[in-house]
Amino acid sequence: MQFTPEHEEFRRTVKQFVDNEINPNVEQWEKEGLFPAKELFMKMGELGLLGVTKPEEYGGLGLDLSYGLVVAEELGAIHCGGVPMAIGVQTDMATPALARFGSKELCEKYLTKAITGEAVFCIGVSEPNAGSDVAGVKTSAVRDGDDYVINGTKMWITNSTQADYMCLLANTSDGPFHKNKSLILVPMDLEGIEVAPKLDKMGMRSSDTAQVFFKDVRVPVENLIGQEGMGFMLQMQQFQEERIFAAVVCLKALENCIRETIEYTGQRMAFGKSILDNQVVSFRLAELQAEVEALRALTYRACEVNMQGDDATYLATAAKLKAGRLCREVTDACLQYWGGMGFMNENLVSQYYRDMRLVSIGGGADEVMLGILCKFMGTLPKA
Ligand SMILES: Cc1cc2nc3c(=O)[nH]c(=O)nc-3n(C[C@H](O)[C@H](O)[C@H](O)COP(=O)(O)OP(=O)(O)OC[C@H]3O[C@@H](n4cnc5c(N)ncnc54)[C@H](O)[C@@H]3O)c2cc1C
Repeated sequence: MQFTPEHEEFRRTVKQFVDNEINPNVEQWEKEGLFPAKELFMKMGELGLLGVTKPEEYGGLGLDLSYGLVVAEELGAIHCGGVPMAIGVQTDMATPALARFGSKELCEKYLTKAITGEAVFCIGVSEPNAGSDVAGVKTSAVRDGDDYVINGTKMWITNSTQADYMCLLANTSDGPFHKNKSLILVPMDLEGIEVAPKLDKMGMRSSDTAQVFFKDVRVPVENLIGQEGMGFMLQMQQFQEERIFAAVVCLKALENCIRETIEYTGQRMAFGKSILDNQVVSFRLAELQAEVEALRALTYRACEVNMQGDDATYLATAAKLKAGRLCREVTDACLQYWGGMGFMNENLVSQYYRDMRLVSIGGGADEVMLGILCKFMGTLPKA
């Protein structure tokens, strides 16, 4: 990955934004259990940070994914997981398919607002009975005249209590699972949509997660993203950006966790020396730092393959898997070296310990990643 002065300029812009507009508010947002998505997104939109890789004709900067990667890496310096995740939903999870396959009219009407931050987006894939098994979603969108009529329930939807629009995956016909689904752009203020109160989570507390119910919701057929029946394929492709984002946004958070631990253990004394002066501690932290560098190399490579226009599924999947594993390993090891202080909510390590546990579950659990890798290796166990 060759970074240019332009990339470095992006880094500085995001760093300043995180330092001035986000980190000073994180504690309050975490306590309140919600961050003001629209207010923050509008500010990011003014800086062009929500449309870095999106087409210029819709207000984006039209840059390649290496710039998106730099932005995501710097967002990892936010002192919680909830806010970067919510931003990632807006930029890399709910809108890539719209930007790539949405009609000109759809992009002019909706994508432009995602880029300015005027509108908050969410992605509706998971359901109460279909999380890992995306093929098993039951929400239906049945054609009736010029509308789809949507019925079903989406579960654990990030941004949903504040969202203006959802990129929804629903069944538009019977038949094989990879040909019966479509992605549909759904305005969240339509009659028949009910967003339940936000869920009480162990981590990611400043991000809102809720269940969304659809009862006879009518959406014009022109809100279809791409071709009818291609939704499963489009979503699988959209997962590539999601997984690269999920991996890269962990890097700085993990490094922060290690650095904070070095600082704390360097001044905490036990048995006549600092905790850090035990080689078992300093070696372990060095080992973990090396692992983070390896994850960085892997995510950069996934990004490069994606930028070349090749299928990055294999590398993006490996990066997401390693990110999930490393989030558990680093936060657990660091928290241990903080002793009782690590167990206190006020510390960044305990915040990361709670928040980053999600990486092994959300956006495809570790086992789902392993299944995809097995497919590439020809070793997926038979049913
Ligand atoms: C905070 C949060 C935010 C989220 N945001 C969104 C969002 O914005 N939009 C959205 O659509 N979804 C969202 N999700 C849902 C998330 O993507 C799912 O939770 C995830 O895909 C796992 O699905 P599940 O919870 O139904 O787990 P299940 O499918 O019930 O699986 C449970 C566990 O079983 C194991 N497992 C599953 N399959 C296999 C297998 N084949 N082999 C071996 N073991 C297996 C895994 O360990 C897995 O964790 C969010 C979830 C959370 C918690």
